[in-house]
Amino acid sequence: MFSKIKNYISKNTGILIRLDDIAENMNWDLMKKSELLFDKYNIKPVLGVIPNNKDNELLSYQKKKDFWDQVRKWKNKGWEIAMHGFTHVYDNNTKNQDYFGYGGGSEFFGHTLEVQTDKISSGLKKFNEENIKIRSFFAPNHTYDKNTFNALRNSGINEIIDGYGLMPYVENDIKFIPQLFYRLHLLPFGIQSTQIHLNYWKQKDFDNFEIFIEKHLEKIITYEQALKKINNNLIYKFINVLSEKILKIKRKSNF
Ligand SMILES: [Zn+2]
Repeated sequence: MFSKIKNYISKNTGILIRLDDIAENMNWDLMKKSELLFDKYNIKPVLGVIPNNKDNELLSYQKKKDFWDQVRKWKNKGWEIAMHGFTHVYDNNTKNQDYFGYGGGSEFFGHTLEVQTDKISSGLKKFNEENIKIRSFFAPNHTYDKNTFNALRNSGINEIIDGYGLMPYVENDIKFIPQLFYRLHLLPFGIQSTQIHLNYWKQKDFDNFEIFIEKHLEKIITYEQALKKINNNLIYKFINVLSEKILKIKRKSNF
């Protein structure tokens, strides 16, 4: 009995490495180091690529001329390329009314279905022009509304790397892979994703990342493996709601 439980926990514990804000302008020094680290341990991360980056803050980083060649190389290594917004420019404030209650700036929340569909399809067009097939999405600043989900489905995307809970789940006909913590953290149970912003990292953060990777190597999973763990059991739905409540309280109280 005990070994069965242990086996169940072990089979259902894993972390997907998600890198955010991958664009022509970014911290290429740390990206190169990350790539060497992933290759060394055969890790296949998810990269959130911004198809048409217009975010002034991000544009201040070093520009890579052959960016899309590089994205294709990553894709050919079996890394998962996801769409991370369209321009990454926030033109709305959700005032905590967004789907996951993150609040703050948003590129999508509050816009009509037509506007949101236009943003998503323009992003998809760029990936198609570059011959890069994508199937997943996550919005800048985690901010969505129902129109975002409809716009994504209209464009044939039904996988999102965001959300609460301990296991990937399906809601609004969309598959969600939970992303819970800002910091690198592996829970003793469950399948979730990191969010890593190399642009904000110093060498020390990268060193800590390397230690994290080496320590949890056996628990690092691929995007495909995460999708296979989709579980809509009632108990997990209850845990999803619970984790949402706890994290929202935690965020509001800022501890
Ligand atoms: Zn972002």
